[in-house]
Amino acid sequence: MTKEEKLQKYEDWLFRRSAYQMALAVIGIDKLTVAPPAGSAYRDSRTAYLAGELFSIQNDPEMISLLKEMKDDPSVDADVRRGMQLYYEEAMKTMCISKEEYVAARELANRSYDAWLKAKTEDDYSVFEPYLKQVIETQKKLYGYRTGDLSLYDRMLDDFEPGMTQEKYDRFFNALKERLVPLIRKVTEAQQIDDSALFQHYDIDAQKKFMDELLTYLCFDPSWGYQNETEHPFTSWTCENDCRTTTKYLENNVASAILSTVHEVGHATYEHDVDDRYDGMILSEGISSGMHESQSRLFENYLGRTEAFWQYNYPVLQKYFPDQLGGVTLGEFVRMLNVSRPSLIRTEADELTYPMHILIRYEIEKGLFNGTIPTEGLNETWKKMYKEYLGVDVPNDRDGILQDVHWSDGSFGYFPTYALGSAFSAQFTAKMRQDIDVDEALRSGRFDACVSWLKEHIHQYGCRYNADEIMNMVCGEPFDVNYYIDYLEDKYTKLYGLQAEKETDR
Ligand code: ZN
Repeated sequence: MTKEEKLQKYEDWLFRRSAYQMALAVIGIDKLTVAPPAGSAYRDSRTAYLAGELFSIQNDPEMISLLKEMKDDPSVDADVRRGMQLYYEEAMKTMCISKEEYVAARELANRSYDAWLKAKTEDDYSVFEPYLKQVIETQKKLYGYRTGDLSLYDRMLDDFEPGMTQEKYDRFFNALKERLVPLIRKVTEAQQIDDSALFQHYDIDAQKKFMDELLTYLCFDPSWGYQNETEHPFTSWTCENDCRTTTKYLENNVASAILSTVHEVGHATYEHDVDDRYDGMILSEGISSGMHESQSRLFENYLGRTEAFWQYNYPVLQKYFPDQLGGVTLGEFVRMLNVSRPSLIRTEADELTYPMHILIRYEIEKGLFNGTIPTEGLNETWKKMYKEYLGVDVPNDRDGILQDVHWSDGSFGYFPTYALGSAFSAQFTAKMRQDIDVDEALRSGRFDACVSWLKEHIHQYGCRYNADEIMNMVCGEPFDVNYYIDYLEDKYTKLYGLQAEKETDR
């Protein structure tokens, strides 16, 4: 074969892969949003079959040797080479698994998801426990096939955030614990902000009308994006011009759907803004889970919870809810959005206590994979840790161990990237604020100025570069956790008047 023929073969392979990926993405979105539960067994078996076919395409021995041969060939275009290198790395992780085992694992993940949903609905961990146990055993087996020096759990961590290990995460979380735990204690002891206005009755139809306006403000365009509703908000996509987000409306909580929408639109915008030359290729994806989460957190927390953001959007919200918010000032509203209060549910947690929710899951995952924590009684372990780290009593399984979907399909090693992503975004935002007048853009309805900055510096590259390289390219220095901790200290010290309190103490 000539080089041109090989490249053509590679192109054909990418097209076939992306066709299966698209089908599976749409089926996955459908399952999580509108598909009736009674059809799940039929759907799941066919989905597992399709996933198996994709698995065979991905691990086609002829293609693997072609990738191996061309991935470091300097005469091949640099972007193409990068794609080949990533596909090759991916294949090295999955080639050690037989197709039968892979399909069986997919089927188990589907059944386990259904069991989790049932367990959550019935508020009964024992419905989910046998599945969780099987999922963990399966993951141990599949990850055990890989070669290399990394421990099982390190391999999982590395899959979601290349280069991260338990050692690095331990250092990261210890830095957070050291400075955030005392801060959380001070905030908890301080005079609490009354945010009861956010928890009145908010008509869901009116919330949806506001959301339409907010989506426009966020530059989430119906020509490439669609929002649906689901129990557990998420974002998925088939290509750059087909991004789906979901949200969840609560009648007695006006902030929940808003903040989850801003968050998910951050994910969608990242995918949409990747250079369209990369469409259908691995390069079109976000670099890592942490990088993805950095973009959603940046939208949600570093933009969506600021006064400037609400200078534009609050009058619109008040228009829909004059009875509930007519007497609440902008300043009061923004303070309410930023209240910190140790709580049960991760996805509703404030910025300050959020990393503690992640720390709990990280500690549990480590225990599950090093054998120190069993799945039996894990709901009780969960309760103990919430008491210890956040001081809250967990009243049931639904709001405890069953709140998150992630473990049902074996996504261990994923949670830590949520905290890491929040930390990345602190550093990115600091740089963005040096380059452009973020507050002026937000208050004048020019959210696109922030989107353009992110596209130019981060989004367009997809996974052309790794997370360390992007951090250095954007900020001119490596990742530094202190941006995140300084930001939180500064924000909450001011919000709760902690400094002032200290002075009166003296
Ligand atoms: Zn997210």
